[in-house]
Amino acid sequence: MIARLDRTLEGRKGLVVGIANAQSIAYGCARAFRALGAELAVTFLNDKARPHVEPLAEELQAPIFLPCDVQDEAQVDALSAALRERWGRLDFALHAVAFAPKPDLQARLTDSSREGFLTAMDISCHSFIRLARRAEPLMTDGGTLLTLSFAGAERVVRNYDLMGPVKAALECAVRYLAYELGPKGIRVNAISPGTIHTRAASGLKDFDTMFLEEQRKAPLGRLAEIDDVGAMAAFLTTPAARAITGMIIYVDGGYHIMG
Ligand code: NAD
Repeated sequence: MIARLDRTLEGRKGLVVGIANAQSIAYGCARAFRALGAELAVTFLNDKARPHVEPLAEELQAPIFLPCDVQDEAQVDALSAALRERWGRLDFALHAVAFAPKPDLQARLTDSSREGFLTAMDISCHSFIRLARRAEPLMTDGGTLLTLSFAGAERVVRNYDLMGPVKAALECAVRYLAYELGPKGIRVNAISPGTIHTRAASGLKDFDTMFLEEQRKAPLGRLAEIDDVGAMAAFLTTPAARAITGMIIYVDGGYHIMG
């Protein structure tokens, strides 16, 4: 079968968690979901983030726009209730969320604090597991769960430090969730982009050097932009990707194959 992607998400309902601004990977994904016809629920972190996200949610014509700090159970409850009330189901969810306290993010892993590590693990990894648990009963007709990882999960990437083991746990969670939810037709995948200039990335030490090094090494001479990641996210959400689950998919101009 040659899959036609045009408008293949028409009538599909998706949740996007992780838009901070127009540079966010989640925004690139949201645009791609919309281009294929999906209807979106968009969240924002807090009141400070809201004015940056609201115009984007309006542009995306999101009928649901709610706060969601993944550590705030009451907000997550309210979000789940809104999805159930408005749509009665959910077809896909994108988790594009990561955080580590700056002192821990910029230190050696060896020196990371217990609190910093646990916070990073909770927000960047376990929140995806919680999202899967919340989504499962809503994905009555199967579904797709997506998250974002980075090459530093698999090998040492200078200055990625603390986030390396956190993303490794996230990638492993993708495999176990794919195994556990597969029988319900729920597919679980991660996209691993190369470095992209976003707000989260700007917290990494020497990010600009890292970006230029990766770009120079990448076989295609370029890394991914948020729309490239969005195209993959949207594809993974369509029925054309119905046999793909448990995968970590690189979208990085081929950088990951380089030694
Ligand atoms: P970004 O800053 O635009 O997005 C990060 C998002 O995480 C923000 O929207 C922020 O509000 C959200 N977030 C942080 N703490 C949260 C919490 N407690 N509850 C809810 N949301 C919270 O940066 P981005 O680069 O688009 O990051 C998105 C994902 O992509 C992250 O998982 C990141 O690790 C991953 N990623 C980024 C790069 C890169 O180079 N930018 C590369 C590979 C993977």
